[in-house]
Amino acid sequence: MTKVALIKCEEYQLELIKNKITEGLAFFGGLASFINKTDKVFIKLNCVGPFEAEKAITTHPIFTKAVIQLVKEITTNIVIGDNPATKDLLFTLKKNGLYNVIVEENVEIINGRDFTTITNNKCHVYSEFQVSRAMVDVDVMINLPKLKTHSLAYMTGAEKNLFGFIFGLNKAGWHVKASNPLEFGEAINDLYGAILDTYKNKKILNIMDGIVGLEGEGPSSGGLPKQASAILVSPDAISLDRIAIEVVHLDINKLFINNIGGARGYGENNLEKIEVLGNKLTDFQAVYFLPPKDSLGNLGLKMLRIKMIRNLLLEHPVIKHSECIKCGECAKICPPKAMTIQPGQFPKLDKSRCIRCWCCSEVCPQNAIKKSKRPIAGRIVF
Ligand code: SF4
Ligand code: SF4
Repeated sequence: MTKVALIKCEEYQLELIKNKITEGLAFFGGLASFINKTDKVFIKLNCVGPFEAEKAITTHPIFTKAVIQLVKEITTNIVIGDNPATKDLLFTLKKNGLYNVIVEENVEIINGRDFTTITNNKCHVYSEFQVSRAMVDVDVMINLPKLKTHSLAYMTGAEKNLFGFIFGLNKAGWHVKASNPLEFGEAINDLYGAILDTYKNKKILNIMDGIVGLEGEGPSSGGLPKQASAILVSPDAISLDRIAIEVVHLDINKLFINNIGGARGYGENNLEKIEVLGNKLTDFQAVYFLPPKDSLGNLGLKMLRIKMIRNLLLEHPVIKHSECIKCGECAKICPPKAMTIQPGQFPKLDKSRCIRCWCCSEVCPQNAIKKSKRPIAGRIVF
């Protein structure tokens, strides 16, 4: 049996969160069983883009402060950060209030641009990864994912948060090589396998900020904040995500990244083999998150391997001109260059090139990119 501590916590109040995380950690022997006094600790945020804390897109600043203060009871040798999708890390941290916390706590922010290579010899899509050296040249990683839905991946949690080991726009290129959801899921697991291998003599601890999560068209401005009142703690990212999806009553069959990881043996994905400690799942029976619109089950995902099917049967991005500020972020990130923009004009989409990765919607600061209606043929088939 693997273990996940599930702790009810209703507000972003510093001492309360510290107490609740400590309560969760006690089931694993406390934080001292993960960190020694001489260790260097990397705190991995979810800092996908420059969005205010109340939008529930990034790890909350008070949650982050609580974790930093707990770690500082053991060591002050801490580095912190993430690789946002397009914007500079400092700009992103300042926008969501994390920067002030990090400065107050006197913690070093990583430089994500210095790379090292990690490998996965049992890969399906990628075998080598250029990752930020600062994220692996440590003794312990504390991963702080946010509990969010995700238009492409259905839900993003502890495992998917580690996609941030890849620097900024380099992430977008993955969607070209792994251009359908199942292949993308394999690629994310290739990376996760490489991280597990790199960390095999080190420690990983995942602490999920699920106090207020994101439902609907996550993981960015398309999603809506939703109270879940949950903190989850586990060394196993896959077990933690498995329990998180039960907390918010979404469908595990659609969480393909986790299902692939479980099948590969990267963690425990079988609910019956995971011990939930602290609160019970029934304590969260009133928590329901809206899934991303028109999310697909396994058969649908398999069919999307065929490019023509994607174009004929799936919804596509639509720019809402009344919201768009013509910033060009969507065109900048679009992996196959299906979205383009001319100075002073609205972006344009070439549907035939679009691979439906939804990176454009993820980085749009205005929530100006919506899903079209699913074509009639798609509604019949899926
Ligand atoms: S337009 Fe958006 S959904 Fe389509 S390929 Fe580009 S980033 Fe992905
Ligand atoms: S759709 Fe969003 S990201 Fe694209 S130009 Fe408009 S505001 Fe910027």
